[in-house]
Amino acid sequence: MAPALAAANQWAHLGERLHPYDCELLMTYRSGRHFLQLPGPTNTPFRLLQAMARPVIDHRGPEFARMTKGILAELQWLFRTQNPVFVYPSSATGAWEAALANTLAPGDRVLSFDHGFFAQKWCHVAGRLGLDVRRLPGDWRTPPSPSTVEDLLREDTERRIRAVLFVHSETSTAVKTDIAAMRKALDRADHPALLLVDAVSSLACMEFLHDEWGVDVTVCGSQKGMMLPAGLGFTAVSSRALEASKTASIPSAYWQWDEMLRFNERGFFPYTPATGLLYGLEEALAMLKEEGLGRVIARHDRHAEATRRAVEAWGLEIVPCDAAHACSSVTAVLTPDGHDADRFRAVVLDRFDMSLGKGLGELEGRVFRIGHLGDFNDLMLAGTLAGVEMGLSAAGVPHRTGGAQAAFEYLAREDPTNPGGHP
Ligand code: PLP
Repeated sequence: MAPALAAANQWAHLGERLHPYDCELLMTYRSGRHFLQLPGPTNTPFRLLQAMARPVIDHRGPEFARMTKGILAELQWLFRTQNPVFVYPSSATGAWEAALANTLAPGDRVLSFDHGFFAQKWCHVAGRLGLDVRRLPGDWRTPPSPSTVEDLLREDTERRIRAVLFVHSETSTAVKTDIAAMRKALDRADHPALLLVDAVSSLACMEFLHDEWGVDVTVCGSQKGMMLPAGLGFTAVSSRALEASKTASIPSAYWQWDEMLRFNERGFFPYTPATGLLYGLEEALAMLKEEGLGRVIARHDRHAEATRRAVEAWGLEIVPCDAAHACSSVTAVLTPDGHDADRFRAVVLDRFDMSLGKGLGELEGRVFRIGHLGDFNDLMLAGTLAGVEMGLSAAGVPHRTGGAQAAFEYLAREDPTNPGGHP
């Protein structure tokens, strides 16, 4: 008899003896809340869960049209744009495809930098769509440099490069690319290439200014700063991108902006929308507005800083070589040589019921990632860092103690409601 069944049957005098199946269920219940500290999907707050539980309404009726028009207006606020934002029932990978298919033609040259797993994956999508992808070797610990980009664009005297792809917050490395500086590099080189940016793990976490930074297409997904489950993909566009869509010829139907525009104007979609997720999105936008985007960003910055202090005090290294290039939504931590990050994550899951992000691509087994984005507060971060520190001890990963304490002290001292601090 399995040990748990034997243990449970000690209490058989209280009622019927347990069936092995019930016992299996007993063994899987873990008291308390699971800590989902992935860099997305993030914790979905109760308000969003409640909103998404509402009954589906007619997606061709007036109530739906009112909701859609409101959501599309609020998305412009979130992306910081006066131009349309398109919402697809898709993951962010779909939105990558939409950005390319609406602006380019097969054989068009696109420039990209190998600075992380998601930058690679976007290139892969571009290659499959028949684009001529020039992927320049990059360093996964530093962002691409604007001056290199400028030089490459100047060298392209025939103006064959039609688009440049960047990942603002490279979730696999937690390295941030300066998009405003990239815009300036394109302008200095006087190059007409479109600037396509992945803001999947930066939007609603880190400052992102679609119009001000002159981004032509911003790609996003619902499962990070927007606090929803995966299932909605977004493209925010510029007038140049909309113009390009008139001649773009990558074969596609589902992603076409012209159809979306026609339907969105009346508050509808060209196909059956994911109404439950749209309810959640409406509520998420309301929550972000209530908190204030500036405060949302400051909160993420503060939690990222506290996390980096913990990592430093543990004597471990973050992936970005320079903390000035670190993302505020996620922190990627290198484990010491000979210590498998995936084994460490397994110990943390088993002992403390917390999921940390795994190392991706060439960082597999060498990195664990602490997600601190979305619906998050000081005590959730305190629990997360306490779990990491206990996990380091439990897994026998060499470190100094006191990292969580360093973060607690920073959080206690840096009062977001009183930025000047106490006397
Ligand atoms: N881009 C970035 C930066 C991501 O972090 C992710 C997923 O984590 C993606 C793109 C792909 O998104 P999805 O898995 O929703 O297709």
